Amino acid sequence: MVKSVLVWILIGFFCAIPVVSYAQTVTTPTTDMQADQRAAMHWSAREDIASHPEVPRYHIVSTIDPVARTWQGQQILTYTNQTGVTLDKLYFRLFPNLPDLGGDLTITGASVDGVAVPVQYEAKRYIAKLDLPTPLPSGAQITASLDFVTTTPDNVGQTLYGAFNHDSQTLALASAYPLLANNPAGVWEIEMPDTKGDLVNSPAAMYDVSITAPLGYSIVTTGTATSSSTTTSNQQIHVVSGLQRDFIVVVTALRHVSTTIDGTTLNVYYPMGNIRGGELGLKFARQAIHLYNNIFGQYPFNELDMVAVDAGTFYGVEYPGMLLFDQRMFTRAWFFESIVAHEVAHQWFYNVIGNDVQSHAWVDESFATYAQVLYREKIWGPSAATIERNGFVAQYAKLQSRHSDGAIDQHMRTFTLYSYNVLAYAKAALYLDAVRAQVGPDVFAQAMRDYYAAHRYDVVDGTAFVGAVQSACHCDIQPLYTHWVLDQ
Ligand SMILES: [Zn+2]
Repeated sequence: MVKSVLVWILIGFFCAIPVVSYAQTVTTPTTDMQADQRAAMHWSAREDIASHPEVPRYHIVSTIDPVARTWQGQQILTYTNQTGVTLDKLYFRLFPNLPDLGGDLTITGASVDGVAVPVQYEAKRYIAKLDLPTPLPSGAQITASLDFVTTTPDNVGQTLYGAFNHDSQTLALASAYPLLANNPAGVWEIEMPDTKGDLVNSPAAMYDVSITAPLGYSIVTTGTATSSSTTTSNQQIHVVSGLQRDFIVVVTALRHVSTTIDGTTLNVYYPMGNIRGGELGLKFARQAIHLYNNIFGQYPFNELDMVAVDAGTFYGVEYPGMLLFDQRMFTRAWFFESIVAHEVAHQWFYNVIGNDVQSHAWVDESFATYAQVLYREKIWGPSAATIERNGFVAQYAKLQSRHSDGAIDQHMRTFTLYSYNVLAYAKAALYLDAVRAQVGPDVFAQAMRDYYAAHRYDVVDGTAFVGAVQSACHCDIQPLYTHWVLDQ
């Protein structure tokens, strides 16, 4: 994510969209979901599915109504307990119920392995708890069925979160379904997230989603549509995700431009009337994907989507297989290029290599921010890279002059908004620049490739890259890590 520091003038308008209602049929999960999921993976990464057999599997059959701003459906989660302990309950996080998102997610019915169970809300309805009818031993599998309806706020992109909002052209539904809470070692992570930056910590999972929506819109999602059909009034698509940490769906009236790069389809939904901005976004992202495929490793999915939304609190934000940009970015070519370089890099850092975006936000932000320098260096040359780097140097120097320097590795809640934006982005990028200066560009490049190859679909902290660098350089960068990342 890159947060916005500017206040924009509200210029949205509403368009009239006919109300349509549908009957929907819920089907049971396919028996060979793994084979289906391969359809979303880049040809070089299809075997990744078989090597991750125990990830959570979400099967959602649903309807989106852009006029009512709702997403309604049934979610069947197939979950294998890998916590190492016996579980007597499941927790789901309902991000739309966070006050800073301003929406609503209500679970209207729940069952576990076919047994109806009550839904117990906690933490101002951010958390939904299901008591299991029988305890779930470690290694055992369970199926939880949840009927849900999500409603977004209307036209609040300038003040709340533009990724969960209905604006004049688009209904954006980020993390809008009941998402199983993290439980990496037998302890549920159910505290309310700090909203200075990214919200969602989640293990890699697989999504199989059917969506019905009115005609006249594009349904844009994480993953790849494997089939679609229409009637006289509506359309339905079936989507599989591959190994992704979250699922986002956007229903939009915006037009798009497309290209293919290294076997991945890239779609850019641009602001109404600004096809030049769409072509720019396509060019920048195409260059970034090709560069990152070479310097980090292949993007493992066969699709990436970019969508313009009305957002006042961020310039760009990453979701698995999708990037959202404030629509005003599409007219600011040089700045837009940096934001695209940043957000595209998040597909490698955050999505494929995961980290705790609340307690170690800098881990992915450092790479996404430093990718802006690497991108400038490759596409525009050394002097452009210096301009990009000097921007971070200046931000960090200003923070130091205010006596606000501190550790990069902090929980988001202990930062101020200002210190978060400088320490977890600019200073964190300068840490990687210092590593590169110490070990040299060739060893640094090797370490980045090794890091990506070793930790795909994992969740890491900052020490994983230290290990990759030290293996590549046969040297000690711990003092550098301590100085830049840990010292106050
Ligand atoms: Zn970011």
